Amino acid sequence: MLNPELVQEFASQLRGRVVQPGDTDYDSSRKVYNAMIDRMPGVIVYCRDVADVMRSVDFAREQQLLLAVRGGGHNGGGLGVCDEGLVIDLSNLHGIRVDAQQRTVRVEGGCLWRDVDHATHAFGMATPSGIISSTGVGGLTLGGGLGHLTRKCGLSIDNLLEADVVLANGRMVTASATENPDLFWALRGGGGNFGIVTSFLFRLHPVDTVFAGPTFWKPEQMAEVMRWYREFIVAAPEDLNGFFATMTVPPGPPFPEELHGKLVCAVMWCYTGDPAQADAVFAPVREFASPLMHGVQQMPFTALQSAFDGLYPPGEQWYWRADFVNELSDAAIAEHARFAAMLPTPKSSMHLYPIDGAAHRVGQADTAFSYRDARWAEVIVGVSPDAADRARISDWTKAYWEAVHPYSAGGAYVNMMMDEGDQRVRASYRDNHARLVEVKRKYDPANLFRVNQNIVP
Ligand SMILES: Cc1cc2nc3c(=O)[nH]c(=O)nc-3n(C[C@H](O)[C@H](O)[C@H](O)COP(=O)(O)OP(=O)(O)OC[C@H]3O[C@@H](n4cnc5c(N)ncnc54)[C@H](O)[C@@H]3O)c2cc1C
Repeated sequence: MLNPELVQEFASQLRGRVVQPGDTDYDSSRKVYNAMIDRMPGVIVYCRDVADVMRSVDFAREQQLLLAVRGGGHNGGGLGVCDEGLVIDLSNLHGIRVDAQQRTVRVEGGCLWRDVDHATHAFGMATPSGIISSTGVGGLTLGGGLGHLTRKCGLSIDNLLEADVVLANGRMVTASATENPDLFWALRGGGGNFGIVTSFLFRLHPVDTVFAGPTFWKPEQMAEVMRWYREFIVAAPEDLNGFFATMTVPPGPPFPEELHGKLVCAVMWCYTGDPAQADAVFAPVREFASPLMHGVQQMPFTALQSAFDGLYPPGEQWYWRADFVNELSDAAIAEHARFAAMLPTPKSSMHLYPIDGAAHRVGQADTAFSYRDARWAEVIVGVSPDAADRARISDWTKAYWEAVHPYSAGGAYVNMMMDEGDQRVRASYRDNHARLVEVKRKYDPANLFRVNQNIVP
């Protein structure tokens, strides 16, 4: 139990608000995106500025509290919240400034990607992020950042130029290629292990209107489509990104009624190249195996970025498993087809996100993100709005993962794992793990920041 007088004194030193058990908004304040996560923190602090973050870190350290840091709250394993300790919520740190001349955007640590997309789109530019715009910039970036622009522009971390970080000792430093370069290296893939990022500086790219949308094929064509996809996407121009998905067609527009609720295999495309070439680039897609639907259209990049937000609102049950994949063998494809046919709920899915093009041009030891040689990040998610489906979606996810894991590269994208333990974290960083431990020992030797895919100092 926290001493109420100490908490009161702490609260009086802040610009932001403190929420505790018994407060009317305690239950809404402890919620995160994944409704499977149900944790009861001792104190939640809504920081208003960097000074609040520094004071909160000091308070957690002095009182030896378990400390969780919440950006967008999307993490599958619920790493933005903890039991009993202190949660530092960054959602009020949401300032954004675009520098159109320098082609950069400065983003405060609690922004969501939709805020960033909105701000940069006004200048006809974007920086790589994920595929759901309600995800936090903080967690997504620090783990790597995979999305529609990966092949053309690299991971989110490949576009990170600078970060302001509040360290475990409560002091703020800047990390970049020239200032605290060891910290800058570790932040790019090492997650929230090293401190709280209060401000990110990203490079921008001229991305404005794109050609995007899904192509659907019949589920019984899945093995054939996957075999085609594994060759096609690797040879495609880097202006074209396409992630493979097994899915159920949502029951509403823009999908034709006859497809509503139907199981399909799909590729979700994003083409950012010369509009005059778009038709030619998509010709082989339209012509392959008579798709049920080819829904690619020209649209603002922000429309693509938010296309799935309505389908996946906060407050549903999510169970995650992931792997990196170097090659999609025929044997692996057979397992994918078997589990796709057993999708436990309409929102459950398997995605393969390409990691090549610009992301492959960064060396394996250049950032903490180790799997630069992988071709795809594979993620299996059991999803349902109904808590009664909890066992069903987790059983399917685990069984699916166990069947395809032997065909994987070994580790997984840390942002798409749940709580799978230290061995899995080590497998995901491979040779970079030892250097991460060194940096952790320097910046957080007592492991204050441990509610994450933890690098044990
Ligand atoms: C629906 C959905 C779709 C997704 N799609 C993608 C995708 O397309 N591409 C992709 O790469 N990932 C994707 N993800 C995974 C996502 O990257 C992770 O869930 C990530 O952890 C979310 O970040 P957050 O800030 O929202 O999460 P939070 O739960 O708030 O935080 C996650 C972790 O990051 C730390 N953290 C957050 N902000 C900061 C900060 N400012 N400073 C220090 N540490 C911080 C937290 O302490 C915690 O350990 C998706 C997740 C969901 C739920």
